[in-house]
Amino acid sequence: MYLNFKIHFGPSSFFVLINTNPDELSEFSNEFIGARELVVTLLFFIPLLRLNSITSAILNVTYKFKFVTYKFLKLGACTLLFLTVFKFTRIIDHNLPYLICRSFILNHKDKKFVEDFNSQIETNNNSFKNKNNNLNNTFVVVIGESVTSSHMQLYGYYRNTTPFFQKIKDSLSIYEDVISPNTSTFHSLSKALTLGNYEDPKKVLALPITTLFNKSGFKTFWISNHSPAFNPGSALARVSGQAQLKFFNSKAVVMGNLKHDGELLDKVDEALKDDFSHKIIFLHLIGAHFSYENRYPEEFNVFSDKPKTKFKDEMAYQKINQYDNAVRYSDFILNKVLQKLKTEKANSYLMYFSDHGEEVFQDEDFYGHLEDKPTKNTFKIPFIMWYSNHFKYPKDYSYKKKRKYMTDDLWHSIVHISGLKNSFLDKRRSIFSSEFVNRKRLILEGENYETFFE
Ligand SMILES: [Zn+2]
Repeated sequence: MYLNFKIHFGPSSFFVLINTNPDELSEFSNEFIGARELVVTLLFFIPLLRLNSITSAILNVTYKFKFVTYKFLKLGACTLLFLTVFKFTRIIDHNLPYLICRSFILNHKDKKFVEDFNSQIETNNNSFKNKNNNLNNTFVVVIGESVTSSHMQLYGYYRNTTPFFQKIKDSLSIYEDVISPNTSTFHSLSKALTLGNYEDPKKVLALPITTLFNKSGFKTFWISNHSPAFNPGSALARVSGQAQLKFFNSKAVVMGNLKHDGELLDKVDEALKDDFSHKIIFLHLIGAHFSYENRYPEEFNVFSDKPKTKFKDEMAYQKINQYDNAVRYSDFILNKVLQKLKTEKANSYLMYFSDHGEEVFQDEDFYGHLEDKPTKNTFKIPFIMWYSNHFKYPKDYSYKKKRKYMTDDLWHSIVHISGLKNSFLDKRRSIFSSEFVNRKRLILEGENYETFFE
């Protein structure tokens, strides 16, 4: 982490690590771990070769001072003192054994919380309503991956990265000031698709959006170009796990991580052809996740000239070009999905947002998305809506394109725009409601997004 990003391995990186999936992990290592990293890592183990002599040296000192009888007491007191200092200074957050123990305890607490919450919602089961139960509902939520609005032509980027969106932009609702609550897939989507948010992060285990739609009489689909998460009890795994029909495209692990989102289109077709009257389809793209060059077919390799950036080196040029190609390919995929959805004569919408943004040599001299190294572009995301002519807007619908929104409240927006009614919906947190209330967008350790990057 230090060699690549000049940061220490912190708690947020650790939590991403234990909640990620094998693909992401192998991709990260391919991208960032080379001979240099391996050699430096091995150097850390050299003291271990001398461990025996180090231990006897310490014991020798203890014997000399004749504190043998109190050895354990002394050691105990010293350990306690060190732990207190480490905990107080938060140095302990960088200690791997500590992180592992802590995450096990947290995991256990989480389980207990879910059990309590579930028994609570089971008791008011009949309060989940669909106001448009008399209509055919087909909703598509496309979750982009690592796409920052700062690289989209639709949001003012100088390159032609979203030709399709550009063509139909008058028929879209384009929200200009939307950010993700975190810069990792796991943290960000856990909040976006559950009752959890910045103020109440514990609730990421409460009422996954898929569970809610199931309870409201919908058939739920989860089509993903990611692998299932390592930890099935984690918030995001619970969201996808609750979908009635699931598809994870993980065959690419054996194919050198060459993953193109086009591979999902047949699955989208199948879901749309399903004749159940109420459907919601979540489509989780691999989008523009590194390794960027593996995200698009050869014919989408359109940007190859020298891009605009203040960081003048070949690697930066190459990554920017590859990233822009990947963004352009996402635009193509969305076009395909929308064409398919348009053939449905239903009460339908298409929502597109990205789990988080990405830094690609725009403000800082690196590429990727790490909470331990935040930049504005790692938070700035697209948020776009398309509605069919048959769409039944909620009574309190209002479109304010400049509304400041953070997607940790997205659960409420999706539930609201879909015409669902239940006691958990808070319209003040829906970007689509006239009852929407502006809130301070806090990120990281309580930083105000509006001023943090200035
Ligand atoms: Zn992501």
